[in-house]
Amino acid sequence: MPDFSAAEIALANEDLKENSPQQILQWTVARFHPRLTMATAFGAEGCCIIHMLAEIEPAVRIFNLETGYQFTETLALRDRIKSRYGIEVELIRPELSVPEYEKKHGGPLYVLKPDQCCFDRKTIPLRRAVVGYDAWISAIRRDQTTHRAHADVVQWDAKFNLVKVNPLLGWTKQDVWAFISENKIPYNPLHDQGYPSIGCWPCTRAIMDGEDERSGRWAGTAKKECGLHVMDQEGGSGI
Ligand code: SF4
Repeated sequence: MPDFSAAEIALANEDLKENSPQQILQWTVARFHPRLTMATAFGAEGCCIIHMLAEIEPAVRIFNLETGYQFTETLALRDRIKSRYGIEVELIRPELSVPEYEKKHGGPLYVLKPDQCCFDRKTIPLRRAVVGYDAWISAIRRDQTTHRAHADVVQWDAKFNLVKVNPLLGWTKQDVWAFISENKIPYNPLHDQGYPSIGCWPCTRAIMDGEDERSGRWAGTAKKECGLHVMDQEGGSGI
Protein backbone atom coordinates (compact mmCIF):
# COMPACT_ATOMS: atom_id res chain seq x y z
CA MET A 1 0.00 0.00 0.00
CA PRO A 2 1.37 3.49 -0.80
CA ASP A 3 1.67 6.22 1.81
CA PHE A 4 -1.80 5.57 3.25
CA SER A 5 -2.67 3.17 6.09
CA ALA A 6 -5.86 1.13 6.46
CA ALA A 7 -6.75 3.23 9.49
CA GLU A 8 -6.42 6.44 7.51
CA ILE A 9 -8.65 5.06 4.76
CA ALA A 10 -11.29 4.08 7.31
CA LEU A 11 -11.07 7.50 8.94
CA ALA A 12 -11.30 9.33 5.61
CA ASN A 13 -14.32 7.23 4.68
CA GLU A 14 -15.98 8.04 7.99
CA ASP A 15 -15.24 11.76 7.61
CA LEU A 16 -16.38 11.99 3.99
CA LYS A 17 -19.27 9.56 3.67
CA GLU A 18 -21.94 12.24 4.16
CA ASN A 19 -20.14 14.92 2.14
CA SER A 20 -21.07 16.18 -1.31
CA PRO A 21 -19.27 14.73 -4.36
CA GLN A 22 -17.48 18.05 -4.83
CA GLN A 23 -16.23 18.01 -1.23
CA ILE A 24 -15.08 14.42 -1.63
CA LEU A 25 -13.24 15.33 -4.83
CA GLN A 26 -11.64 18.38 -3.23
CA TRP A 27 -10.25 16.20 -0.47
CA THR A 28 -9.12 13.56 -2.98
CA VAL A 29 -7.30 16.10 -5.17
CA ALA A 30 -5.63 17.72 -2.15
CA ARG A 31 -4.54 14.33 -0.83
CA PHE A 32 -3.42 12.55 -4.01
CA HIS A 33 -2.97 14.79 -7.06
CA PRO A 34 -0.82 14.37 -9.20
CA ARG A 35 -0.74 10.67 -8.26
CA LEU A 36 -4.47 10.56 -8.82
CA THR A 37 -6.25 9.21 -11.88
CA MET A 38 -9.74 8.37 -13.12
CA ALA A 39 -11.07 5.75 -15.51
CA THR A 40 -14.22 6.64 -17.41
CA ALA A 41 -16.45 4.88 -19.92
CA PHE A 42 -18.15 8.29 -20.46
CA GLY A 43 -21.29 7.22 -18.64
CA ALA A 44 -23.60 9.88 -17.25
CA GLU A 45 -21.98 9.60 -13.83
CA GLY A 46 -18.45 9.89 -15.23
CA CYS A 47 -19.46 13.01 -17.17
CA CYS A 48 -20.67 14.58 -13.89
CA ILE A 49 -17.30 13.88 -12.26
CA ILE A 50 -15.40 15.27 -15.26
CA HIS A 51 -17.49 18.46 -14.94
CA MET A 52 -16.60 18.69 -11.24
CA LEU A 53 -12.92 18.02 -11.85
CA ALA A 54 -12.87 20.71 -14.55
CA GLU A 55 -13.73 23.16 -11.76
CA ILE A 56 -11.60 21.64 -9.00
CA GLU A 57 -8.47 20.41 -10.80
CA PRO A 58 -8.63 19.95 -14.57
CA ALA A 59 -5.11 18.50 -14.67
CA VAL A 60 -6.20 15.21 -13.04
CA ARG A 61 -5.31 12.51 -15.53
CA ILE A 62 -8.47 10.85 -16.90
CA PHE A 63 -8.43 7.83 -19.17
CA ASN A 64 -10.82 5.60 -21.09
CA LEU A 65 -10.34 1.88 -21.69
CA GLU A 66 -10.68 1.81 -25.46
CA THR A 67 -11.48 -1.86 -25.99
CA GLY A 68 -11.98 -1.38 -29.72
CA TYR A 69 -15.64 -2.32 -29.24
CA GLN A 70 -17.01 1.02 -28.03
CA PHE A 71 -19.92 2.80 -29.72
CA THR A 72 -19.01 5.65 -32.10
CA GLU A 73 -21.26 7.88 -29.96
CA THR A 74 -19.05 7.14 -26.95
CA LEU A 75 -15.85 8.10 -28.75
CA ALA A 76 -17.53 11.23 -30.15
CA LEU A 77 -18.39 12.23 -26.58
CA ARG A 78 -14.68 12.27 -25.79
CA ASP A 79 -14.30 15.02 -28.44
CA ARG A 80 -17.28 16.95 -27.06
CA ILE A 81 -15.76 16.84 -23.58
CA LYS A 82 -12.49 18.17 -24.94
CA SER A 83 -14.32 21.05 -26.64
CA ARG A 84 -16.31 21.90 -23.52
CA TYR A 85 -13.63 21.55 -20.84
CA GLY A 86 -10.27 21.42 -22.65
CA ILE A 87 -9.76 18.01 -20.99
CA GLU A 88 -8.32 15.37 -23.29
CA VAL A 89 -9.30 11.95 -21.98
CA GLU A 90 -6.47 9.54 -22.69
CA LEU A 91 -7.33 6.37 -24.60
CA ILE A 92 -5.79 3.22 -23.15
CA ARG A 93 -5.78 0.38 -25.64
CA PRO A 94 -5.10 -3.34 -25.25
CA GLU A 95 -1.94 -4.72 -26.77
CA LEU A 96 -3.80 -6.34 -29.68
CA SER A 97 -6.18 -4.51 -32.02
CA VAL A 98 -9.65 -6.05 -32.47
CA PRO A 99 -8.69 -7.79 -35.77
CA GLU A 100 -5.49 -9.15 -34.20
CA TYR A 101 -7.33 -10.32 -31.08
CA GLU A 102 -10.13 -12.01 -32.98
CA LYS A 103 -7.66 -13.66 -35.32
CA LYS A 104 -5.67 -14.99 -32.37
CA HIS A 105 -8.82 -16.52 -30.81
CA GLY A 106 -10.52 -17.68 -33.97
CA GLY A 107 -13.26 -15.06 -33.61
CA PRO A 108 -14.65 -12.65 -31.03
CA LEU A 109 -14.69 -13.78 -27.39
CA TYR A 110 -17.46 -11.51 -26.19
CA VAL A 111 -20.19 -14.13 -26.69
CA LEU A 112 -18.57 -17.33 -25.46
CA LYS A 113 -15.94 -15.94 -23.10
CA PRO A 114 -16.93 -12.42 -22.06
CA ASP A 115 -15.00 -12.61 -18.79
CA GLN A 116 -11.80 -13.32 -20.65
CA CYS A 117 -12.57 -10.59 -23.19
CA CYS A 118 -13.14 -8.07 -20.36
CA PHE A 119 -10.01 -9.25 -18.62
CA ASP A 120 -7.84 -8.96 -21.72
CA ARG A 121 -9.31 -5.71 -23.04
CA LYS A 122 -10.12 -3.87 -19.80
CA THR A 123 -8.48 -5.30 -16.69
CA ILE A 124 -4.97 -5.83 -18.07
CA PRO A 125 -4.84 -2.39 -19.77
CA LEU A 126 -6.20 -0.81 -16.57
CA ARG A 127 -3.50 -2.43 -14.46
CA ARG A 128 -0.91 -1.02 -16.84
CA ALA A 129 -2.52 2.43 -16.84
CA VAL A 130 -2.48 2.89 -13.06
CA VAL A 131 1.16 1.99 -12.40
CA GLY A 132 2.76 4.86 -10.51
CA TYR A 133 -0.55 6.21 -9.17
CA ASP A 134 -1.75 6.09 -5.56
CA ALA A 135 -5.49 6.59 -6.02
CA TRP A 136 -8.25 6.40 -8.59
CA ILE A 137 -11.71 7.89 -8.85
CA SER A 138 -14.64 5.80 -9.95
CA ALA A 139 -18.18 6.88 -10.84
CA ILE A 140 -20.10 3.98 -9.31
CA ARG A 141 -23.37 4.49 -7.41
CA ARG A 142 -24.39 2.36 -4.49
CA ASP A 143 -27.85 1.65 -5.93
CA GLN A 144 -26.60 0.23 -9.26
CA THR A 145 -25.80 -3.36 -8.26
CA THR A 146 -25.61 -5.47 -5.14
CA HIS A 147 -21.82 -5.51 -5.44
CA ARG A 148 -21.70 -1.72 -5.55
CA ALA A 149 -24.05 -1.47 -2.55
CA HIS A 150 -21.16 -2.65 -0.37
CA ALA A 151 -18.65 -0.06 -1.56
CA ASP A 152 -17.30 2.77 0.61
CA VAL A 153 -16.64 6.37 -0.40
CA VAL A 154 -12.95 5.80 0.31
CA GLN A 155 -11.66 2.24 0.20
CA TRP A 156 -8.57 0.20 -0.47
CA ASP A 157 -8.64 -1.47 -3.89
CA ALA A 158 -6.53 -4.59 -3.50
CA LYS A 159 -7.12 -5.62 -7.09
CA PHE A 160 -5.27 -2.59 -8.45
CA ASN A 161 -3.22 -1.57 -5.38
CA LEU A 162 -4.80 1.85 -5.19
CA VAL A 163 -6.97 3.88 -2.89
CA LYS A 164 -10.34 4.04 -4.60
CA VAL A 165 -12.62 7.05 -4.16
CA ASN A 166 -16.31 6.84 -5.12
CA PRO A 167 -17.66 10.39 -4.86
CA LEU A 168 -21.09 9.59 -6.37
CA LEU A 169 -21.73 6.55 -4.22
CA GLY A 170 -24.71 8.13 -2.46
CA TRP A 171 -26.27 9.69 -5.56
CA THR A 172 -29.34 8.31 -7.30
CA LYS A 173 -29.94 8.21 -11.03
CA GLN A 174 -32.24 11.24 -10.53
CA ASP A 175 -29.41 13.16 -8.82
CA VAL A 176 -27.14 12.43 -11.78
CA TRP A 177 -29.62 13.61 -14.40
CA ALA A 178 -30.62 16.70 -12.42
CA PHE A 179 -26.93 17.69 -12.23
CA ILE A 180 -26.44 17.06 -15.97
CA SER A 181 -29.49 19.10 -16.83
CA GLU A 182 -28.64 21.95 -14.46
CA ASN A 183 -25.08 22.25 -15.78
CA LYS A 184 -25.76 21.34 -19.42
CA ILE A 185 -23.11 18.63 -19.24
CA PRO A 186 -22.38 16.76 -22.48
CA TYR A 187 -23.61 13.15 -22.34
CA ASN A 188 -23.89 10.12 -24.58
CA PRO A 189 -26.96 10.48 -26.88
CA LEU A 190 -27.56 6.74 -26.54
CA HIS A 191 -28.93 7.50 -23.07
CA ASP A 192 -31.91 9.07 -24.85
CA GLN A 193 -32.40 5.92 -26.94
CA GLY A 194 -33.00 3.42 -24.14
CA TYR A 195 -29.43 2.79 -23.03
CA PRO A 196 -29.06 3.83 -19.36
CA SER A 197 -25.75 1.96 -19.01
CA ILE A 198 -23.36 1.90 -21.96
CA GLY A 199 -20.38 -0.37 -22.43
CA CYS A 200 -19.07 -2.09 -25.53
CA TRP A 201 -21.59 -2.42 -28.38
CA PRO A 202 -21.55 -6.25 -28.52
CA CYS A 203 -22.48 -6.45 -24.83
CA THR A 204 -24.97 -3.60 -24.50
CA ARG A 205 -28.60 -3.44 -25.57
CA ALA A 206 -31.37 -0.93 -25.02
CA ILE A 207 -33.72 -1.74 -22.14
CA MET A 208 -37.48 -1.64 -21.90
CA ASP A 209 -39.61 0.33 -19.42
CA GLY A 210 -39.42 -1.21 -15.98
CA GLU A 211 -36.18 -3.12 -16.54
CA ASP A 212 -33.23 -2.66 -14.21
CA GLU A 213 -30.87 0.05 -15.51
CA ARG A 214 -27.97 -2.38 -15.93
CA SER A 215 -30.06 -5.17 -17.45
CA GLY A 216 -28.90 -4.17 -20.94
CA ARG A 217 -25.31 -5.10 -20.08
CA TRP A 218 -24.37 -8.68 -20.99
CA ALA A 219 -28.10 -9.32 -21.33
CA GLY A 220 -29.12 -12.95 -21.13
CA THR A 221 -26.05 -13.92 -19.09
CA ALA A 222 -25.28 -13.91 -15.38
CA LYS A 223 -22.48 -11.41 -15.96
CA LYS A 224 -23.24 -8.00 -14.46
CA GLU A 225 -19.81 -6.35 -14.20
CA CYS A 226 -16.56 -6.19 -16.17
CA GLY A 227 -14.89 -7.19 -12.93
CA LEU A 228 -13.31 -3.83 -12.35
CA HIS A 229 -15.72 -2.72 -9.62
CA VAL A 230 -16.31 -6.09 -8.01
CA MET A 231 -15.13 -6.35 -4.44
CA ASP A 232 -12.61 -9.13 -4.11
CA GLN A 233 -11.94 -11.32 -1.11
CA GLU A 234 -9.23 -9.03 0.17
CA GLY A 235 -11.70 -6.18 0.49
CA GLY A 236 -10.61 -4.49 -2.69
CA SER A 237 -12.61 -3.76 -5.72
CA GLY A 238 -12.32 -4.26 -9.22
CA ILE A 239 -14.72 -1.33 -13.85
S1 SF4 B 1 -17.80 -5.57 -22.52
FE1 SF4 B 1 -17.96 -7.20 -24.09
S2 SF4 B 1 -16.73 -6.52 -25.89
FE2 SF4 B 1 -16.21 -5.19 -24.09
S3 SF4 B 1 -14.40 -6.11 -23.24
FE3 SF4 B 1 -16.15 -6.99 -22.09
S4 SF4 B 1 -16.78 -8.86 -23.21
FE4 SF4 B 1 -15.36 -7.68 -24.54
